[in-house]
Order: sequence, then C-alpha cells, then structure tokens
Amino acid sequence: MSGPAPGPRRVVLATRNAHKVGELRAVLAPLLPDVQVLGVGDFADVPEVAETGVTFEENALLKARAVAAATGVVAVADDSGIAVDVLGGSPGVFSALWAGRHGDDAANLRLLLAQVVDVPERHRGASFVCAAALAAPGGEEHVVRGELRGRLSTAPAGAGGFGYDPVFVPEGSTRTLAEHGAEEKNAISHRGRAFGALAPLLAAVLDGRPIRGADGSEDPV
Ligand code: IMP
Repeated sequence: MSGPAPGPRRVVLATRNAHKVGELRAVLAPLLPDVQVLGVGDFADVPEVAETGVTFEENALLKARAVAAATGVVAVADDSGIAVDVLGGSPGVFSALWAGRHGDDAANLRLLLAQVVDVPERHRGASFVCAAALAAPGGEEHVVRGELRGRLSTAPAGAGGFGYDPVFVPEGSTRTLAEHGAEEKNAISHRGRAFGALAPLLAAVLDGRPIRGADGSEDPV
C-alpha cells in the first residue's frame, strides 16, 4: 500500500480515463461535499485491472475491488457503454474497443454508424448504460445501474463529451450529447444517474452506517 494515508472520508476513483474522472468528480462533489475524491494517480503501484466480466456490473465491481485492495481506501468504479437496440445490445461491454483498439473513440464511432447506416430513424433506439460500484477494503460491496435512453443520429455532431456522445441524441432532445454542456450532460447521463444512486450508499459506508439489506433488517440509508 502506498500514497496518501487512509482516512475515513476519502474515496478513490478507479479509472484512468481523464474525461470520466472529471465527470465523476463533478457528479460526486455536490452530493458528498466533505469527501475527498482521489484518483488512482495519487497512489503508486495500482495494478491495471483486466475487464474480464461480461456485464457492466461485473466489470465495475472487478475494478473497484482491485483498487480498494491496492490502496486500502474505499474505491468506486464505473463500467459503461452504449447498447444499440438493432444490434441486440451491442457494443455493450465492448464499447471501448468496438473497432479493435481500446479507446479509439473515432474508429469506434465510425464503425457503429456504418453498421446501422441503412436503419431508419424509428429503429435507431439505443441506451447509454453505466454500472457504478463501490468496494471497501473490508470487503463491503455495492453496485447500481443508471441508463440514458436515446437514439443514434446519422452523422456526428458537437465537440463536447467523449466516446459516442457525437452520435447519441437523448430522448426528448434534438441535439447530440456532444452538443450538451458538461453540467447539462451530467444532470441526465447514465453516469450521473448511477453515481447519484451510489452516493447515499457511499456516504453510509464512509460513515460506517449499516445499509438496509433485501430483507429490510438493517437501518435504511
Ligand atoms: P469503460 O471505460 O470500459 O467503461 O468503457 C466505456 C466506453 O463506452 C467508452 O470508451 C465510450 O466509448 C463508451 N461510453 C461510456 N460512457 C460514455 C459517455 O458518457 N459518452 C460517450 N461514450 C461513452
């Protein structure tokens, strides 16, 4: 274990994606103003975690668990992607490497648009999905899911966000997510929703308060 000394009100974000770190900090800061949000870069020797799961939830838990173990600090992680209706939910957990090279956002987006080029607007439904997980060094774990419904546009538009944002039009909007401001995106996004649901669980874990189980036997958050 290395880096900042463990403390009761600190959390480490288990991602090296700078865009995600920015979004997660922006989402968590107003919900948990007194919690110090660290990145994996604040610690030495945090191992890369292989995303071997086949669901968003599994992968988010794998990342949070590994980072909690390596840092001794409560860790939160997300796993996210885009699920396209006519592709049976693909790219799904393979969103980051859909065109073959991990993190090549431009190639991923081009391939996805090409795959649905002849699909009419009424059948271009898709969802952004995010699983948000927390893992405490003591072994406590929680995972929740957030979704944003929308449809694929026919051509990229906008310069904001990352990944598939330029080709995703949220339900009720006429603009792509890349044409939304950062705050506007966080207020509706799959990641904003998932971390909004995780925040009270995180606060309870950091405070050492029990969380109500499925049988309702413990105190509610
Ligand atoms: P992860 O880092 O394994 O969660 O992979 C997430 C991948 O899904 C990213 O590389 C993006 O391609 C896509 N993705 C996830 N969230 C978003 C988003 O908010 N906007 C656009 N693309 C996203």
